[in-house]
Amino acid sequence: MSANRRDFIKTGAAAVGASLLAPYTGLAGTPDHDQARLFALAVNDAGEYTLPPLPYAYEALEPHIDAQTMRLHHDIHHNGYVKGLNAALKGMETARTNGDYALIDRLAQKAAFHGSGHILHAVFWQNMISADKSGTPKGSLKRQIEKDFRSVSAFTAQFKGTAATVEGSGWGILAWEPLGRRLVVLQAEKHQNLTQWGAVPLLVVDVWEHAYYLKYQNKRGEYIDNFLRVVNWDDVANRLEAVMS
Ligand code: MN
Repeated sequence: MSANRRDFIKTGAAAVGASLLAPYTGLAGTPDHDQARLFALAVNDAGEYTLPPLPYAYEALEPHIDAQTMRLHHDIHHNGYVKGLNAALKGMETARTNGDYALIDRLAQKAAFHGSGHILHAVFWQNMISADKSGTPKGSLKRQIEKDFRSVSAFTAQFKGTAATVEGSGWGILAWEPLGRRLVVLQAEKHQNLTQWGAVPLLVVDVWEHAYYLKYQNKRGEYIDNFLRVVNWDDVANRLEAVMS
């Protein structure tokens, strides 16, 4: 494991990041062949975090998510989290070299903010696909949703209600909670607040204004309705199978 990766994982405040990465990187002693694909190109062999390319064209999600929003969101916003995360880790390295930890609390906060932002966006892009390919949950994902939420429609209603009421900037998140072995729907404020430790995000919707304001202005609910038309349910199912096995 690289020094950078180790620092990131040690940053306990990077709650979403650490809990999400653990099952995917071999940290828990699991092979990471399948898991590596779920975070393709979000980190390089040297342990530096990288901006993964979108798995489709900027306009692929039109008209539900517009190309200009995708371009700004991916190229500018997500890239900012990647740079901020790497910079925070570099700052920790410098602190160790100098034996000066006066700014370490701020660096830990930055690693949590940018690290959780990077990871959630890496999931978010792969969670979507053009509307004609979206379909509905199938197989073990459908069965688990029905077990934990009664029905797919009850789940989507709860997911929408949860995401729509995040205070300020944040995310709606469907996650696997491994202690109770059940699916849970969470809110995240900013990227990193209000996580449940250990819960692994499977389906995430970005409800920061940068994710929808150009096209939807203050109509967050309408944006979420249309997000649900471009969900890549196969990707969500793959993530569930990876964490349950
Ligand atoms: Mn975002």
